[in-house]
Amino acid sequence: MEHLIVKTVPYFGDNFCYLIHCNQTGTTSLIDCGEAAPVLKALDQEGWTLHNLFITHYHSDHSAGIPDLVAAFPELNLFKPQGEERLTFSGKELQDGEEVAIGTCRLKVYSVVAHTKFCTAFYFPGHLFVGDALFSAGCGRLFEGQPLELATTLKRLAGFPDETKVYVGHEYTLANLKFAQTVDPQNQAISSYARDVQVLRNQGKFSTPTSIAQEKKINPFFRVDHPHLIKTLDPQGKLNHVGRVGLLRRKKDLF
Ligand SMILES: [Zn+2]
Repeated sequence: MEHLIVKTVPYFGDNFCYLIHCNQTGTTSLIDCGEAAPVLKALDQEGWTLHNLFITHYHSDHSAGIPDLVAAFPELNLFKPQGEERLTFSGKELQDGEEVAIGTCRLKVYSVVAHTKFCTAFYFPGHLFVGDALFSAGCGRLFEGQPLELATTLKRLAGFPDETKVYVGHEYTLANLKFAQTVDPQNQAISSYARDVQVLRNQGKFSTPTSIAQEKKINPFFRVDHPHLIKTLDPQGKLNHVGRVGLLRRKKDLF
């Protein structure tokens, strides 16, 4: 898959969108767009033209740049989660399991609802784009979904191969790690990762992409069945897996 190049485009202080360029066909695709200007600048720097735009979910910090991109690229192919009427542009609606050609490779669609009612992740081998469904050391708030949906989505995401790079929608990692330390205090991997991420941030770099293997070590939302997490969240053992996911999410909301 070396012919697909991923370029991270930061915007709005802590948001990310991602350009995927196929250097065999020249096809360029974009995952999310809250703001067009940084994308246009990145395309200009690389000498790329934009062909496809995939939106993970309707929140404006992931979609507000669409009109400006369409103005710049009138032939742009637009894709959105099936059923999401709050994304008012006309584009192809994608459902779980569908595949879309992005040059010589195919991008596969995964439904990952919980953060909002319609959320999609996009995957090509080795690379997973999750929007706000998952963050490094955390996950998106439950704006519209229930704990059962979050548990289902987390299980689905954790099922990707360990080496998969995970491209998240926000740079929330250090704040998430602070919370992770409170619910998983014996986990040395959290403090060591926090030091690594702080070095990156001090250098003006980002902690995206993370990986499935890394998240299994430090993300409490991937670790709710670990004895240490059970001990912190539910010392009397009254909750099941979904109950612990819901409680963990509520604790994070209040942190
Ligand atoms: Zn969001």
